[in-house]
Amino acid sequence: MSLTLQRTALDVIGDDLTVDLPDGTTVPFAHLDYAATAPCVRAAADAAQNLLPWYGSVHRGTGIRSQTSTLEYERARDLVGDFVGTRPGDTVIFTRNTTDALNLLARSLPEGITTIVFDGEHHANLLPWRRPLRLPTPATPEAAVAALRQALRSLHGPALLAITGASNVTGEIWPVRALADEAHAYGARVVVDAAQLAPHCPVDLDDLGADYVALSGHKLYAPFGAGVLAGRADWLDAAEPYLSGGGASVEVGTAAEDVRWAQGAARHEAGTPNLLGAVALGAVCAALKGADRGALHSHEQDLLARLREGLAGVPAVVPVSVFGDRQPRVGIVSLALPTQDPAVIAERLGREHGIGVRAGQFCAHPLTRRLTGSARTGGCGTGAVPGLLRASFGLGTTGNEVDRLVEALRRLTSRAG
Ligand code: PMP
Repeated sequence: MSLTLQRTALDVIGDDLTVDLPDGTTVPFAHLDYAATAPCVRAAADAAQNLLPWYGSVHRGTGIRSQTSTLEYERARDLVGDFVGTRPGDTVIFTRNTTDALNLLARSLPEGITTIVFDGEHHANLLPWRRPLRLPTPATPEAAVAALRQALRSLHGPALLAITGASNVTGEIWPVRALADEAHAYGARVVVDAAQLAPHCPVDLDDLGADYVALSGHKLYAPFGAGVLAGRADWLDAAEPYLSGGGASVEVGTAAEDVRWAQGAARHEAGTPNLLGAVALGAVCAALKGADRGALHSHEQDLLARLREGLAGVPAVVPVSVFGDRQPRVGIVSLALPTQDPAVIAERLGREHGIGVRAGQFCAHPLTRRLTGSARTGGCGTGAVPGLLRASFGLGTTGNEVDRLVEALRRLTSRAG
């Protein structure tokens, strides 16, 4: 009997890579760094590949290439819109990534809006905001809601809460809905940084209680350089164009100030857009929307439980968290290594065991500093930086890869390692 392997839209491309180890053996590469960049899935690769014969300018020509490209670009916008549950009055703007999407929103805020952030955010959601109100990251989800309430009460004027859906450091899912309800009770708006949430959980604007959502294609199995800001159109339509140039301008006069800017997504998408990026992202959004996300979630939670159980038997590593073990989380685990340098262990995992992870502070310095218990509170650029070792996974990750990581960590952190 012959086995027929079914190709599916969510197959990971490159899951058969092997690496040669110094001891002369060859092992399958275990990619456990999805949180940085996820591998490409077939839906994204096929969408890009299929478009290549038709590839042409978007919104700019009458030929069949241009017409097809325009149609596919706008279809991708609709697919992404469906994926995040856009509502009437919402817009979907293609950006380069989450960082770009959050910077776009930050530049589009009307005068007088105060942005509220917790200091455990990824820098992409910490740094773009002008003079934000930064709240210390609390120890419980309830304390987060209470801290937000207090902040909102003390503010006189409109506000925006910028909150992560899932932490790129601990994998913990933030209590977005409860925070959004609180924010809305005070008339504030909410943007959710869904860079780490979207690859693992549905990100529906209404269900999250979000006014805006930002995400990155390369973390969502579509590594072709596109991201998205989706949500309410009014502030974005009233803002200065994020990028000035062709496509964003409807009519340009001879005087420098004589420009009529486009409304809608075009206002912020000047220049030739990243067609392949958008189309690949749209294809993955459609594939994920059609997938059994409950089953994907269960598989991932099984892997998480397996990893955490295994790590419990490795005394030299300590999983870190903000809210504690019981907080729901996505497939991301960061470890403190009190007696070893995480960067050295990560390098040896790659070289000696064929396992790819990441070490460092993951662009969330205030949070990683706190989680590693560092007393360093001075300015930037001084002294040694603390770090963690992070393993993260998603579509294509197997129990065997998790077991290999646990075993390799056990060896590398034991005295003989
Ligand atoms: N937010 C979070 C939670 C992230 O994990 C990242 C990427 N590590 C970003 C924002 C920024 O994403 P990008 O680099 O794709 O802009």
